[in-house]
Amino acid sequence: MTDDGASFSSPKQLLAARGLHARKRLGQNFLVDPRFAARVADALPADAFVVEIGAGTGSLTEALAQRARRVATLEIDRGLAAIVRERFADVGNVTLVEGDVLEFDFAGALRPESAPRAICGNLPYYITTPIIEKILDAFDFWESAVLMVQREYARRLTAAPGTPDYSSLTVFVGYHCSVEKIFDVGAAGFYPAPTVSSAVVRLTPWANRTAGVDDERVLLKTIRAAFSQRRKTLANCIVAAVRSKSGDEQDERLRSSVEQAIATARLEPKIRGERLSLDDFKRLANALVTARIDIV
Ligand code: SAM
Repeated sequence: MTDDGASFSSPKQLLAARGLHARKRLGQNFLVDPRFAARVADALPADAFVVEIGAGTGSLTEALAQRARRVATLEIDRGLAAIVRERFADVGNVTLVEGDVLEFDFAGALRPESAPRAICGNLPYYITTPIIEKILDAFDFWESAVLMVQREYARRLTAAPGTPDYSSLTVFVGYHCSVEKIFDVGAAGFYPAPTVSSAVVRLTPWANRTAGVDDERVLLKTIRAAFSQRRKTLANCIVAAVRSKSGDEQDERLRSSVEQAIATARLEPKIRGERLSLDDFKRLANALVTARIDIV
């Protein structure tokens, strides 16, 4: 089979042949244009070991198998797993793992493999964030991830500080990886056509993520706290996060140490969390560590 679609296996026909239907509950919208599958696969390093999330009927698996050293593809739906097993029975570099991606041991699968190692998928959108958190947990064991996500989600991942789409997710993912949007895919690219548009993003882990970070846990807690109440100032959010832990409602000393830490980080006293860049967050977290403000 080639990428020109001459012998493309239509998801609709593959499902119909087995009396199956796309299950909305499992985020099943299958790629119907092999050119999109080819572009996704081309965005990965050549000759990689690839973990694919959500095989579906194998539209993307096929393009990956042509470029990758080996593909381990995950699928939770038993009916689809049967299609994939049959479709790739004679393809030596594809292995199907039937089960839930949220239970999958990414580090265990990727650690023994040599680079390049990659993660790829036209994601089931109902669990996009848990999937991203899970692959970031295995951050040390892959070199590239190319993911199809909802277009709004791609905007959140690539948003600039102070814009409406900027969120704790933007900073959390941006702390681990550089994020680039590669291309958009409209609803017509899928069967059945979803009600939302999609985009493909590439995540590339930073080599020196923790450089200049005194305590990573404090940094991550600070990011979460800063976005916890968008209408409040950064100082109020941090004070609230520390108080909720200590239960002390009256501590004025705490407020003044938080304000001092914000000044040490060279930030405006009344600034809101949504305006801070990743570097601002790093300086602030280090100032909180130095001041022994226990946000953890
Ligand atoms: N890669 C295929 C394609 O592009 O045509 C299918 C993409 S479809 C958007 C998402 C796939 O993820 C579906 O096949 C769905 O059954 C599968 N899926 C949903 N939840 C899953 C889970 N928790 N674990 C593994 N696969 C899951």
